[in-house]
Amino acid sequence: MKCFVNDAHGAVGLDVLARSEFENWLAAIPDHQARWIRSHDPGTSGAWHIAVPNADGDVARVLVIADEPVGMLTLAGLPARLPSSMTCRLDDDVDGDTASSLALGWALGSYSFGRYQSSDRKTARLVFPGQGNRAEVEAVARAVWHGRDLINTPAEDLGPAELAAEVAALAERHEANLKTVVGDELLANNFPSIHAVGRASSRAPQLVDMVWGDPDAYRVTLVGKGVCFDSGGLDIKPSGGMLLMKKDMGGAATAIALASMIMDLDLPVRLRLLVPAVDNAISGNAFRPLDVFRTRKGFTIEIGNTDAEGRVILCDALAEASSAGTDLLVDFATLTGAARVALGPDLPALFCNDDGLAQDITDNCQRVGDPVWRLPLWSGYASDIRSDVADLRTTGSTPFAGAITAALFLEKFVDQTIPWAHVDLMAWNRCHKPGRPKGGEVMAARGFLETVRARCIRHRDAS
Ligand code: MN
Ligand code: MN
Repeated sequence: MKCFVNDAHGAVGLDVLARSEFENWLAAIPDHQARWIRSHDPGTSGAWHIAVPNADGDVARVLVIADEPVGMLTLAGLPARLPSSMTCRLDDDVDGDTASSLALGWALGSYSFGRYQSSDRKTARLVFPGQGNRAEVEAVARAVWHGRDLINTPAEDLGPAELAAEVAALAERHEANLKTVVGDELLANNFPSIHAVGRASSRAPQLVDMVWGDPDAYRVTLVGKGVCFDSGGLDIKPSGGMLLMKKDMGGAATAIALASMIMDLDLPVRLRLLVPAVDNAISGNAFRPLDVFRTRKGFTIEIGNTDAEGRVILCDALAEASSAGTDLLVDFATLTGAARVALGPDLPALFCNDDGLAQDITDNCQRVGDPVWRLPLWSGYASDIRSDVADLRTTGSTPFAGAITAALFLEKFVDQTIPWAHVDLMAWNRCHKPGRPKGGEVMAARGFLETVRARCIRHRDAS
């Protein structure tokens, strides 16, 4: 990756300190450097950094002070803030896990979306620390960068076919099996809901189905909402609500990123990735409010609002994932504004039918700095998605608990003997933060990687 180099020649040392170490450290360096640092007001909390000159006026070192413990994002603000010509290196005495974690933060903070800019934005680089796990760090960071690229790419250049092609390229790289069901084949293959949502676009709806790994290993199925552009359909969005809708395939980007991490790291799993990819567009054959469709599962659904299209394409994919069987089923979707109202943009909502799994996911996501927060599959609201004419209605009958009623709708299509997690995420950073650049974001995938890793290894060791 371009943010890392091998050659330490000419690199500036990074001193990464917890605040409690700061005073002792200052006492041990030359007096003029200590005075320079103090004169720049390091404050008493939060991350802070400063370039420290030697007697000749050149940069001798870069000091980074972090809150305790030194976290993954400690260096994430540096690539963009240090001179772009600078190369930095960590001390050899930083332990391997910390070095890997700091390097990952560096990589997450080095991202920029350059596809449409004529000159590449250069940032400071890091000598990859020899004690760190480069294969792991790069597998994770590359997947996140790729997912961000997919979300940031305008809908004009990332329609259902292009999103499917991204999965195909991933499959080819890892020698995975790939099946794509396109356009009217969706009807012939009994994916009527995906077809109904996507049929109004001149760009045909698709279901991409990738399978990788040992058939006897722990089975993981990932599903990602791939709405390449969501106009709202006939229930058209106002312009403010439509503006960011190139990101409505953020769930697919997240599932693709997680699949990429799993395969790059060669985890002992049987992986299946399902991406229903559509445009929610408007034309004479657009699906309509109160239309009724028979889904893959056999239930009929009544469309409450054509802008609640994500759950409609997901229901066929979840039904397929369930009927084929799996040991873990996860779906990622930019599903509801209600989840953002409840938890804000940075904290995806987790719904889960298994308390142990929910706790694992929440803990792992927290530990790797990729947090989620659990909301309930509160069955008391199931009556909200009752329909007068069909088995289910896609939207609630009240303005309340929209994230929950959407999750309850999906739950109807999942075999309840399968541990299932549903993540309702924003997939977008509204403003720039260190390691979280403004624009498309892959949320929760790093935490799920740890959950999948722990479970598949336990499964392998037990069998
Ligand atoms: Mn919508
Ligand atoms: Mn949508």
